This record gives sequence, structure tokens and C-alpha cells, in this order.
Amino acid sequence: MAAQATASDVAAVVARVESAGGAAFVSRGTSRTVVGLVGDIEQFGTLSLGALRGVAEVVRISVPYKLISRESHPDRSVVRVGGAAIGPGAPTLIAGPCAVETPEQTLRAALMARAAGATVLRGGAFKPRTSPYAFQGLGEAGLKILADVRAETGLPVVTEVVDAHDVELVASYADMLQIGTRNAQNFALLQAVGDVDKPVMLKRGMSGTIEEWLMAAEYVAQRGNLDIVLCERGIRTFETATRNTLDISAVPIVQRLSHLPVIVDPSHSGGRRDLVLPLTRAALAVGADGVIVDVHPDPATALCDGPQALVHEDLEELGAAMRGELPAGHRVLDGAACLP
Ligand code: PEP
Ligand code: MN
Repeated sequence: MAAQATASDVAAVVARVESAGGAAFVSRGTSRTVVGLVGDIEQFGTLSLGALRGVAEVVRISVPYKLISRESHPDRSVVRVGGAAIGPGAPTLIAGPCAVETPEQTLRAALMARAAGATVLRGGAFKPRTSPYAFQGLGEAGLKILADVRAETGLPVVTEVVDAHDVELVASYADMLQIGTRNAQNFALLQAVGDVDKPVMLKRGMSGTIEEWLMAAEYVAQRGNLDIVLCERGIRTFETATRNTLDISAVPIVQRLSHLPVIVDPSHSGGRRDLVLPLTRAALAVGADGVIVDVHPDPATALCDGPQALVHEDLEELGAAMRGELPAGHRVLDGAACLP
């Protein structure tokens, strides 16, 4: 639809499609509304949809991910989270603790994040842990801490939701909903976040292909939510020196296939503090729309992912890299320092 199309223009398109026995999916993004039509293509051809008021363009989409494809939306999208605009333009820094542990720890991490230029705070209240004996997160108490820290710092909050039944609860506190790698093909959860009016950050499945990742995003978009940020967080390979292998080529590939913003998580991909800055610089070099990093005021005591959490000086340096203020080749670590 054209940028100035009204709700009744959209409704008229939907009605015309449904009158021909087709289905119409309305997806509203910040910059434009897209109506996806599914049905008999021959029949749609006779509906003269292009002549309806407010219709900008009628295009046939050949790829399986229709609504999120660049074929359907040639301009790259911007997703707004609080005051942050994620998309083409300056890269966004999202930072915060892996897990919300206490109000003090979360506030200190948030202040470190804000001082380094972060415009969105991350922090997990529901943690998808490999072991049932590991810290599972504070649940709703953690969401309350995030909301308090948002009030104190002004930073909007992204936090993970792991269960479709918790989507409304998490959405009532968060500014953006995170879908983690382990839930990247949990289709009921993807549909549930597609039903709420909050942006979604969708991580790539650790063993997911780019097409599977894009199809997961299509599940969200198909329910009417086009405010999706894709996050490359590393994939499983034979390599054991890193937690995951950052698939840096996925960034420009996905930006060509989809209009959605693509960010990188250098913390969960490398799994090592010393790799976060180099991987961030790689992400910036290939044109990522932002990075999301773990920070902790005292990583040695962290209840989750301490070894990859940045401390104050690291984060300051990373913030400088984000602003393009770090000279090339700065602080290359020697061999010994690179060992895990
Ligand atoms: C996280 O960001 O806290 C997280 C659990 O990441 P991933 O889903 O990428 O492992
Ligand atoms: Mn983590």
C-alpha cells in the first residue's frame, strides 16, 4: 500500500481479495503496510487490485518468504524500539546483562551500556538453559526489574520470551520481544509474538539455514507484525575453539533477500570476551544494522555467560568502534591472550 493509504483503503483491498475466495494478510510496518495475498494467482489477475485507492504496487513474489522479502518491499525497513531506530543508517548498540540477576546488577550494567552509547537494554528474565539445574532466570520479577531500570535510564528493553503462554506477560513489560536460537522454529511461539503489537528480535537457529530463518520470520509477519529484527548469533560447526561460528556472510545475504534489519550477536557467537570486539568490527564491516552484546559489572559472579560478558573498558572501546572512532587494527591481541 502507498504510505498515505488509509485503513479503509486496506480494508477495501482485503474485501476484494476475499470476494474472490483468496486470503489476505495485512502486515503493518513502521514505514508501510503490505497486504499479502494467497490464492489462485489467475483469479487475482482479474481483480484489478492495482486500480484500488491506496494501492502502490501489485507484485508477484517468487520466494517462499513473501511478506519479508525485498521483492515485496524493495526499501530496507527501519524498526523502532523506544527512541532507537534499527535499520539503514547508524548501527544500533544493544547491550546489557545476559540474565537479570538483581536490581543493582541490572542497573549497573544498564548504566555501563548507556555510557557506551547503547540505545536499547538487553536482559533475560526467562532463560532457556541447556541444563535444568542452571539458573533459569527470575521470571516476572526479572521483568519488573527491567521496567524499573528502563524508568531510571530511559533505555527501552529487549527480553526473551520462551513460551507462547508468556507472550502477553512479557509484552506488557518489554519494548521488544526476543526469540532465542532454541526457539527459532517454535512456530506456535512465532505466531504468538506475531499477534502482539511489539517489535520482535528473531535469532537464527543454531542449526538453521538462512531460508529456515527467513521462513521463521515469515511466521511472525504472516500474523500481522512486520516489525522484526533478524539476529545472526553464530551457527554450529565442527569448530570447538568458539561457542558457535559467526556466519558473517549471512548479514549481506539476508539484507539482500529481506527488507528486515539484520544485527549480530558477537557475544553468543564467539562465547569469549576477547572475540566480542573483533567480531563486532567484522559485523560493522559487512554492514550489520547493529550488534547486541552481553555486559556485566562483575562477570566473575555472573549467573549466566560470564566468560563472554564485557566489562566497562571493553564496552567503552566497543562503543568507540560503533561510532567509527577506533583506528583499524587497534589492540590486536597476541596469540596467548587469544586462548580461551
Ligand atoms: C541470549 O541472547 O540471552 C541467548 C540465550 O541467546 P541465544 O538464543 O542466541 O543463545
Ligand atoms: Mn547468554
